Amino acid sequence: MGDILTVGVVGAGTMGAGIAHVFARAGYPLLLCDVEQRFLDRALGQIRTNLGREAAKGKIPESDIEPTLGRITGTVDREALAGVGFAIEVAPERFDVKADIFRALDRMLPADAILATNTSSISITKLAALTHRADKVIGMHFFNPVPVMALVEVVRGLATSDATFEAVRGLAVKLGKTPVEVNDAPGFVSNRVLMPLINEAAFAVMEGVAKPEAVDQVFKLGMAHPMGPLTLADFIGLDVCVDILRVLQEGIGDPKYRPCPLLVRMVDAGWLGRKSGRGFYVYEE
Ligand code: NAD
Repeated sequence: MGDILTVGVVGAGTMGAGIAHVFARAGYPLLLCDVEQRFLDRALGQIRTNLGREAAKGKIPESDIEPTLGRITGTVDREALAGVGFAIEVAPERFDVKADIFRALDRMLPADAILATNTSSISITKLAALTHRADKVIGMHFFNPVPVMALVEVVRGLATSDATFEAVRGLAVKLGKTPVEVNDAPGFVSNRVLMPLINEAAFAVMEGVAKPEAVDQVFKLGMAHPMGPLTLADFIGLDVCVDILRVLQEGIGDPKYRPCPLLVRMVDAGWLGRKSGRGFYVYEE
């Protein structure tokens, strides 16, 4: 891969906006693509607000805000990405949606361009097999909120080349992140280890071992976690947690990953956590 001059970010939701933010802040011109203009407007509004917060905290000079925003061009025309040297797919966690984007990017982009995905659980190897450049397909798993969290899991599919891995590892460093190498397996490392913790915490509540506040306090005060597992589950979304546990259960085939019935019942009730106003805790706003 040559020098990455322009970046394509496909999907301008929570994570896409954050990823566009960090690329633009690191000096990369980028095309941010979504299916409707209103999603692009929402993303650009979110990026402006977050850059303003960074300036207020003294992390960036106020004078950097407009030039950073100026590096981001929103588009609803996917074909506009045809010349980019690096593209990252940040669309919803559905294989058919990601497969369609991967096939299109593979057709359009220069032969030496790298195709990355921010998927939390879909197989990199399977997405790579849809393209004619499996060696240039890789997972670049950012964490929410992207401008704040240091980690990027750089996920190697079965066919990912060393050159692609090194290029993406270098890219993560240029974004000010800390890349960690992992291989393609359900949940990678982050969710494979985190989700059983959240699930077990839910079992402890279901079985009456402790109340959610007590479970979270144990982890905050005893294990120095900045937030307890149930607060974190509410933040991630209980529906997302159940979906990931099912991916682990199916992909690894071990019943230890079965979602806790309490989590499933809460999702059935529409108690999805912070985003629905109620999960293990109640949120007023
Ligand atoms: P989101 O629903 O907030 O955003 C997805 C965006 O993609 C939406 O704006 C949607 O309009 C757009 N989109 C849908 N189809 C598209 C298409 N064909 N082309 C272009 N854009 C399209 O989702 P999110 O939370 O940002 O998650 C995106 C990805 O990142 C998922 O794969 C998810 O698993 C992963 N991820 C999420 C988190 C998180 O905490 N939210 C963390 C790590 C990874």
